[in-house]
Amino acid sequence: MKTWRDNVRKVVPYVPGEQPKRKVIKLNTNENPYPPSPKVEEALQGFDAECLRLYPDPDCFSLRTVLAEYYGFEPENVFVGVGSDDVISMAFMTFFNSDKPILFPDITYSFYSVWADLHKIPYETVAVDENFKIIKEDFYRENGGVIFPNPNAPTAICETLEFVKDILENNRDVVVIVDEAYIDFGGESVLELTREYDNLLVVQTFSKSRSMAGMRIGYAIGNQELIKAMNDVKFSFNSYTMNQSALYIGGEEVKDDEYFKKTTQKIIATREKTKERLKELGFEYTDSKANFLFVTHKTKKAKDIFEDLKQKDIFVRYFNLPRIDNYLRITIGTDEEMDSLITALKEIL
Ligand code: PMP
Repeated sequence: MKTWRDNVRKVVPYVPGEQPKRKVIKLNTNENPYPPSPKVEEALQGFDAECLRLYPDPDCFSLRTVLAEYYGFEPENVFVGVGSDDVISMAFMTFFNSDKPILFPDITYSFYSVWADLHKIPYETVAVDENFKIIKEDFYRENGGVIFPNPNAPTAICETLEFVKDILENNRDVVVIVDEAYIDFGGESVLELTREYDNLLVVQTFSKSRSMAGMRIGYAIGNQELIKAMNDVKFSFNSYTMNQSALYIGGEEVKDDEYFKKTTQKIIATREKTKERLKELGFEYTDSKANFLFVTHKTKKAKDIFEDLKQKDIFVRYFNLPRIDNYLRITIGTDEEMDSLITALKEIL
């Protein structure tokens, strides 16, 4: 018998890291352990609720202008969305309309395959090597588009500008998206390459280095034609993606560059210290250029460590997926939080 259920879109949703209701040491979703800039607090206090009466600017011009000035582009080179998840999903809809499969690494941000399924885009995954490094030559074949994070997640490995350039050189006829969610923690951004390659879209976020995961702001920078195409899709879907407060407060955050640089440096320093301490406890890890470490222990199983830490109210991320099911992804918190992690690990191991 026919039912309405036959026509329901069937998707296996992305599963975000747990947001516990009680206070725990939360090292499971790569949030920033520091509050946003004091300028954000000030902006929130000065925010005029009266403006909520009106629809926000559908062009998001003020925030695009601040970001364009900060990175040395024109507002026409900048697209903003509700977190980079929204931006990337919009980019999938806009650019990945070929019959050929899009390509992304087999170990990567697990949302890519979910969007591909949702938007009915064929895809193939490209295996990373035994050290979790992306093999660029494996992307030099016919495809409908390319996306990868740099640094990759959850491996934390960052590739060089030359590496990305090679992928671009060998993929001139499709859009290549570089997801730079974690680029501010020591990697080299390829933003400048967007001037040379009209098929490169670089996506960044306020959620990690800018300490504003809760505000939901992401952005893409690229050639004006790419950005116009994304805007056309956005205006065919939902004109008012960004709310008034995100537009205003996001802009104020970008203006406090000193605080942004200070807190990212602090996280990098804590990451490097934590690496050494984990090594002493028998952990191995990749060379992280992100605000998290991707670790495995020489003797104790990752899943057991994950569960034991949870018992102690320390949340880290465990992915029960092929190739990485003996690894943990640990977000870099404050020095005090990392002290508690090390103490707990000493008890567990
Ligand atoms: N890309 C990668 C690689 C990520 O890890 C995340 C965070 N889950 C995102 C994009 C999305 O982040 P947001 O939507 O908060 O900007």
